[in-house]
Amino acid sequence: MAINRIRIEIEGIVQGVGFRPFIFRLAGTHAINGWVLNNSGGVIIEAEGEPAKVSAFLRDISAEAPPLAAITSVSSEKIASQGERGFVIRPSAGGTNKAQISPDCDVCADCLRELFDPNDRRYLYPFINCTNCGPRYSIITGIPYDRPFTTMAAFPMCDACRAEYENPADRRFHAQPVACPDCGPRLGLVDAKGETVSGDPLREALRLLTAGGILAVKGIGGYHLAVDACNDDAVRELRRRKQRDEKPFALMAPDLQAIARFACVDDIEQRILAGPERPIVLLPKQDCNPIAPLVAPANGYFGVMLPGAPLHHLLLRNNFIALIMTSGNISDEPIAFRDDEARERLKEIADLFLVHNREIHTSADDSVIRVFHGNPLFLRRSRGYVPRSVKLPATQRSVLAVGGELKAVVCLTREDRGFMSQHIGDLKNAATLHSLEEAVAHLERILEIKPEVVAHDLHPDYLSSIYAAGLEGLPQVPVQHHHAHMASCMAENGLEGETLGVVFDGTGYGLDGTIWGGEFLLGDYRAFRRCGHFRAVPMPGGDAAVKEPLRMVISYLYDIYGNALYDLQLPCLAEVGERDRQLYLKMLERGINSPLTSSCGRLFDAVAAMVGVRSRISYEGQAAIELEALAEEADTNAIYPYSIATADDNMVLDMRHMLHSVVDDLQAEEPRSVIARRFHNTVAHAATDLCEKIRETNGVNRVVLSGGSFQNKLLAEGIFSGLSDKGFEVFTHRLVPPNDGGLALGQAVVAGMQNR
Ligand SMILES: [Zn+2]
Ligand SMILES: [Zn+2]
Ligand SMILES: [Zn+2]
Repeated sequence: MAINRIRIEIEGIVQGVGFRPFIFRLAGTHAINGWVLNNSGGVIIEAEGEPAKVSAFLRDISAEAPPLAAITSVSSEKIASQGERGFVIRPSAGGTNKAQISPDCDVCADCLRELFDPNDRRYLYPFINCTNCGPRYSIITGIPYDRPFTTMAAFPMCDACRAEYENPADRRFHAQPVACPDCGPRLGLVDAKGETVSGDPLREALRLLTAGGILAVKGIGGYHLAVDACNDDAVRELRRRKQRDEKPFALMAPDLQAIARFACVDDIEQRILAGPERPIVLLPKQDCNPIAPLVAPANGYFGVMLPGAPLHHLLLRNNFIALIMTSGNISDEPIAFRDDEARERLKEIADLFLVHNREIHTSADDSVIRVFHGNPLFLRRSRGYVPRSVKLPATQRSVLAVGGELKAVVCLTREDRGFMSQHIGDLKNAATLHSLEEAVAHLERILEIKPEVVAHDLHPDYLSSIYAAGLEGLPQVPVQHHHAHMASCMAENGLEGETLGVVFDGTGYGLDGTIWGGEFLLGDYRAFRRCGHFRAVPMPGGDAAVKEPLRMVISYLYDIYGNALYDLQLPCLAEVGERDRQLYLKMLERGINSPLTSSCGRLFDAVAAMVGVRSRISYEGQAAIELEALAEEADTNAIYPYSIATADDNMVLDMRHMLHSVVDDLQAEEPRSVIARRFHNTVAHAATDLCEKIRETNGVNRVVLSGGSFQNKLLAEGIFSGLSDKGFEVFTHRLVPPNDGGLALGQAVVAGMQNR
């Protein structure tokens, strides 16, 4: 009988995810002889057997891979047969490590069953895990991924755990975080001083939550603040202690049935919610729901997740419809994840701390997703997805890209893969810069990458740009902000060649020194040309105009009405005192501290303030988010007038006619929601119109949509369908955020392509 032998090489996330035991079992199923081992690149197999069985074995490797595995390539070649008997798992071979590490993952169905089985030795044990689930990225301290290089090194396995760990037929074979109540980490409940609270930690923590208290909970990637989401007083108290913050709080519900009681969930959203990554998904609110209104005021959506760790299952099951689970931080700071530091930072907010002694080595905030056209649209890509790689359009030199200023994320590349870090936060102080440095060092270590080039934003004053400038010996590539956005969307869609980028966002340093943000860029990774933009207006007071949308109202109206703007009978203008009126006028007349901006975000802010959504914001993007919620209440396809002017081969989108009409509608007391909706329609229509004009002269038919404004679903849908209807090929983000959290990917590819 004919016997074949093949050598198979598999790359991707194939280590630490139960891959070798899976191969071992598969070999048994197909009567295959040979061996499997982990090596530097991933997994190597030699398989010998009847030709049909060898083919079936090879096919099933991809088809039936374990849940946490992510295979990026499988190659096989025929070699001489050796007449081997049996199949073995061989010891790992060393060498440079190119294997990829798995992200953190929710407890699997098997472990969950054991968690609630009174006869199991891990009954109610909050640190249960196996090769198919559990923490990964957050506990790894070095490579290779092995117990001594995780924060589980402090817990020697007991005999029972070791037997499971060493048995290839066991679900816990080489599960590095394996533990049980006899040998593993333990829960504790402490107060702000670190004093232990007597009684069973879980029971006492539940007692606190039920009584309306605020509990800090140590999770997978950091601390959350937990509160009963249906208790108005408790939610109000959390808002009070967190101060000035109006950001919606994320919710965690025990299961999909509980979520359906307060939010609308479709099939795709259900699948994303229940996936092992356990992200927060934005879901439309149910009209009548039991959640306290202060959870997400002035917002049409709840951010909801399912339990992401065994401890969360223990807290939620049979206890609450939903808990608030908001990142344990003061606004804009990185999430707290080290025990002492967390107690210090959260001592004024949390009543008690539910802690444990398994150290979190790397923080990871919750990921946030909104579904767009059946695909995930990331608002934040962090826990559960990091450090999964993104395939780049081509193999390139190794680049470190340091991102922008807001929602900082760094990217390291190796060959044709980009590795994005966890969400680091807004890079406005030494603490976040330190987190960025740690993220870079950690990624370099676990991926064994030494970057040859560093890419950064063109803005010279961003802390990330200053950090890049300080990296001695590395060539630096400054990348224009919106070019980076465009390139990130091209890269994740595998595009090469000339493309039109519609990049709408808040703030980015332009080539001409003004602030860009409503841009139509034509080009590729190497070069681009600005061929269209929103008409620029001054931002009175610079950054102050970002925090106070009212200033932008005055700027846009000054652009139309000049000094006569204060004669307009608009409610929002009535808020401006006489002194401020004169001050703003002087700034605008003389251009004092009023940089020019073509930002789309500022236009949204201004319209939001005009229709009375809000004049001041307490978190980034708030006015635009609330304007979108208002617009969703209306149903109209109507648009406002606008015009497109051509100046120096560059088209300018002039929205003065639109704003004039908005003023008229406000004075005619048209419903605010209708005005908000017409505004969204107009921006989408105008953007489509301008793309068509660019296509007329340049013939480009391929468009990428990027920038923070594309987090707005109404706007994104309007532009997407407008362009599709006109026959454009339209590409959006699915793997990295359209906001500045995706910037580093674009920077990395631009620098990589320019340094080929
Ligand atoms: Zn498991
Ligand atoms: Zn044990
Ligand atoms: Zn941006």
